[in-house]
Amino acid sequence: MSNQLRAVRGMNDLLPADAPLWSHFEQTIRDWLKRYGYREMRTPILEHTGLFKRAIGEVTDIVEKEMYTFVDALNGESMTLRPEGTASCVRAAIEHNLLFDGGKRLWYAGPMFRHERPQKGRYRQFHQVGVEALGFAGPDLDIEHLLMTARLWKMLGLAEFIRLEINSLGDTQARASHRGKLVDYFSQRADQLDADSQRRLLTNPLRILDSKNPAMQALVEAAPQLIDELDDAARAHFEAVKRGLDAAGIAYRVNPRLVRGLDYYNYTVFEWVTDKLGAQGTVCAGGRYDGLVAQLGGKPAPACGFAMGVERLLVMLSDAKLLPPPDAPDIYLVNVGEAAERIAMRAAETLRDAGLNVVLHGGGGSFKSQMKKADASLAEYAVLIGDDEAAANQVTLKALRGEFGAQPEQRRMALPEVIELLKTGF
Ligand code: ATP
Ligand code: MG
Repeated sequence: MSNQLRAVRGMNDLLPADAPLWSHFEQTIRDWLKRYGYREMRTPILEHTGLFKRAIGEVTDIVEKEMYTFVDALNGESMTLRPEGTASCVRAAIEHNLLFDGGKRLWYAGPMFRHERPQKGRYRQFHQVGVEALGFAGPDLDIEHLLMTARLWKMLGLAEFIRLEINSLGDTQARASHRGKLVDYFSQRADQLDADSQRRLLTNPLRILDSKNPAMQALVEAAPQLIDELDDAARAHFEAVKRGLDAAGIAYRVNPRLVRGLDYYNYTVFEWVTDKLGAQGTVCAGGRYDGLVAQLGGKPAPACGFAMGVERLLVMLSDAKLLPPPDAPDIYLVNVGEAAERIAMRAAETLRDAGLNVVLHGGGGSFKSQMKKADASLAEYAVLIGDDEAAANQVTLKALRGEFGAQPEQRRMALPEVIELLKTGF
């Protein structure tokens, strides 16, 4: 196949074999969010570029080098495929005045786009489930988000593989004073900085702490810590979050170097991380972003939220063999011969009317070859129609995997009896 006709690098097809895992995950997510009273939002995949620049920050990896940005040929406007969900969610909340009567608990799910080097757990189109609580000052909501994520790992069976790291970024003033100390510290050691970090020193020194370069780690480890700059209010907020976690019995580690790659965060930030995915170890990340609503033009409102990487969680589920049963129909309908073919479609529809899931064999073929397909479909039962059955206005019900009670392995009967047996039991 020529390259032109292949999928874009780093963008994946979801094939039927993997669909049950995705559905299982999505169903779990819906049940989980309902349990906490969060309501779904869907926003467009395309937004004006300015939204992300303003929300995420000009000097972040995402905005500097990861966004799919293009000029709309029809009107010359700069457009961007969303790289994350919070900016759009907040934009929509402001645009539709969702906060007019108080705080809102919201969630979204869908594809995000970032131009990164594709590898296991890192794609150019990937999926996030995100949760945002807009209009709540916390710290109760910060705690709710940590409790709810902890519950999700339990529901998925992943709790033992995922651990929590938290930090506080304080308010703008704490970050400004920390920024000054960082600039001093790194300027005195400028010869030890890699090229990226030298540039960051002038634009966004905090981001140097997020460097993934192993050669920089010792320098970063010894850098001044933001947590030392927190004022009383920020400190009290952070203490309350920790007390909430302790009370709920959720283990965590305070990681003073946790800064996150987006500029809108303040106060609490957190990451759920695993050792199971190599370098792509963060499966869920978030925190408080009290300034964002105002920054995007809304009436000031505190907020916090988080997003999880769906692909990374699904890799963990499948590595841990936590797989749902494969999709299988109740019935595979085998039909051999002209008379059978003529009535098979109607028989299948009648069975479906009764709520049964039926795959109707198509394309003819011998009894033996059709039975092979029936078996491969993983159906519980085969319903067979041949010349004899067609003449007698009956079918043969045969157990493939399903229960057949005390019945012989297969038996002729009228269609209503099949329905009766499969719906009410043998
Ligand atoms: P990383 O440090 O791994 O690049 P990030 O800080 O850029 O992550 P966020 O913007 O916080 O990630 O996104 C939240 C979650 O979305 C991440 O924790 C991760 O699980 C997932 N994620 C982010 N980028 C990708 C990607 N390119 N492919 C797959 N999942 C991703
Ligand atoms: Mg990233």
